[in-house]
Amino acid sequence: MDAVLDAARQHGVTHMLCVCIDMDNLDAVTGLAERYPQVFASVGVHPNEQETRDPDVTELVRLAQPSKIVAIGETGLDYFHGKGDLEWQRERFRRHIRAARETNKPLIIHSRDAKEDTIRIMREEGAEHIGGVMHCFTEDWAMAEQALDLNFYISFSGIITFRNADQVRDVARRVPLERMLVETDSPYLTPVPYRGKSNQPAYVRYVAEHIAEVRDEPLDMIAQATTSNFFRLFA
Ligand SMILES: [Zn+2]
Repeated sequence: MDAVLDAARQHGVTHMLCVCIDMDNLDAVTGLAERYPQVFASVGVHPNEQETRDPDVTELVRLAQPSKIVAIGETGLDYFHGKGDLEWQRERFRRHIRAARETNKPLIIHSRDAKEDTIRIMREEGAEHIGGVMHCFTEDWAMAEQALDLNFYISFSGIITFRNADQVRDVARRVPLERMLVETDSPYLTPVPYRGKSNQPAYVRYVAEHIAEVRDEPLDMIAQATTSNFFRLFA
């Protein structure tokens, strides 16, 4: 951890949010946030974790109380990995949105092959009252626009550096500067030039560099914007 945090610092990455994916993972995630001042955490159960403990709204709200828990998630819908009747995913997603509204902490939303249902449930549950981030965004501009209208930020991962990711670059070109974030999705989606290795926070610098290049704006501008966006969203 110390080496990872050192590398992050050397790459200009000063703060990070460690994302919870299930109840077994929660102690490890909050432990990091307690130990390191520059690390924050979230609480939630990922849509790919089917056989796992599923907290109700009351429990999510209770678990989200510590001040270093700054978000609810990762939550959302995944119809790519999910098979069969996925009503349980939609129900879990609704519970997370309700918990976010109750705690006043923003959402971290995962959406894969499920854009219509994701946006529909966000609208039905009033997700725009709390906002959040569409994490690791890979959908088209039409979905990005709907998410922006619902007060959400768009977050980019190492995918933006991959050769076949023209759609993601197109979105990155159009998203307002004050609504974008950068992330790892560690250990996955490591950006070029480290693609194939395990991802780590330091590498979000390369995501930011690539966004700067695509938008033809200075890296400094992207760095400052994504940093202040982080602190505005996860206030
Ligand atoms: Zn995800």
